[in-house]
Amino acid sequence: MSKRRKKSNNILVSLIVFVILCISGFFGKDYIVGTNELAKETSANELQITLSQNIDYAEEVNLDNDKLNIIFFYVGQADCTLIKLNDDVMLIDAGNNADGKNVVSFLQAKNITHIDYLVGTHADEDHIGGLDDVINNLDIENVLIPTVGKSGTDYKNVVETCENKNVLLQNPTMGDTFKIDKANFEIMSAMEEEGTSDNNSSLAINLSYNETNYLFMGDAETEVENSRSWAKANVLKVGHHGSNSSSSEKFLNEVKPDYSIIEVGKDNQYNLPSDKAIKRLEDCGSKVLRTDKANGEEVGSFWLTSDGNTIDIKEVNINLDGNE
Ligand SMILES: [Zn+2]
Repeated sequence: MSKRRKKSNNILVSLIVFVILCISGFFGKDYIVGTNELAKETSANELQITLSQNIDYAEEVNLDNDKLNIIFFYVGQADCTLIKLNDDVMLIDAGNNADGKNVVSFLQAKNITHIDYLVGTHADEDHIGGLDDVINNLDIENVLIPTVGKSGTDYKNVVETCENKNVLLQNPTMGDTFKIDKANFEIMSAMEEEGTSDNNSSLAINLSYNETNYLFMGDAETEVENSRSWAKANVLKVGHHGSNSSSSEKFLNEVKPDYSIIEVGKDNQYNLPSDKAIKRLEDCGSKVLRTDKANGEEVGSFWLTSDGNTIDIKEVNINLDGNE
């Protein structure tokens, strides 16, 4: 056999071995998708969800696209989540009183001057404390808030600010549906029976956009979780900052979240999130992301984008905590 012939045979054998190794998965998914992505996961229903590289500067977050954008903000021990699709904007909670000005600054820096639906999930300060700043500084179409907790100072501030600015304040009920551009959202729970705690009065919201589904639980606990059935959600904003009183096994087996996002303050006095809740989330097959450890040990936010068929989540160095 000539040298040249032998060499080409060797190349052929190497090629066959390479193809067999590729088919057997020897090189792993990460090799195939490229080194740009830290991880790549495919959910059970074949919807592709990627967790991409970190973004260090808030300036790099460009919301002017035709995708669904959701930012799960770090606002210390509090909640604040922005949802934007084309020109329609929804904000679920606005952090504590001290965080309101930071939330407003961020929105203004992103040229967001109006909000179609401003939601106060429930009357606690860590959710509606910053709402008055948002109402005072942006054009608000609708404010959605439950009826429970009316006598609280922060609730009264929201009502008063809405009256001063002539903003419509509504108390939605379970089953109410609304639209943000081409995405639909539904109020999944709005408990108002006598004796309902502030947490369990939380407006739980399901958002669906084409093939993707998202569930935002406010601070709802097991009582709410047990009150109805739930659809699968690709991404779950975990109830009550990852408390053990939320995220029950039965609930998680229905929701089956691919990703679970916990908005929680670093070294908070309540010792949240609970290890038990995290274990239940992981046991149901969910990947858990938390704002107190968004970037390794650093606090930060998560920026999700979706075209309705795939979801991408990026860790972003945004900190809107006003108590620091
Ligand atoms: Zn809370």
